[in-house]
Amino acid sequence: MNDDTNSPSPVRTRSYLRIAAWVAGLVVLLYVLAVFVLSNHFWHAMPCEHHLSVIHYATEAWARDHQKSNSDVPTDSDLFGPGKYILEKPRCPEGGVYTLSCVTNRPKCSIPNHND
Ligand SMILES: [Zn+2]
Repeated sequence: MNDDTNSPSPVRTRSYLRIAAWVAGLVVLLYVLAVFVLSNHFWHAMPCEHHLSVIHYATEAWARDHQKSNSDVPTDSDLFGPGKYILEKPRCPEGGVYTLSCVTNRPKCSIPNHND
């Protein structure tokens, strides 16, 4: 009887399949994790970044229109409201609070990773 040398393939194939299943499971796990991380960061942080950009443009327009210096900081009533630069003050989709800034700095969201 010399079964070990001639027919190890079923055992070996089974272990390859097990490794392949582990790798596939790992890939699926990484994929799900990546989708979760990306969706959390981009789908929520991007609109906030967009809001900050819009507020920044409004700040630049306000400074230009009112001959303000680069260090002047507008108030909410300078930028937001009927007849102002933005009809309604944008809100962070995750509840962060926006702080206006001067022309040379971007406005800030109170949620730190929204300012990246
Ligand atoms: Zn935000």
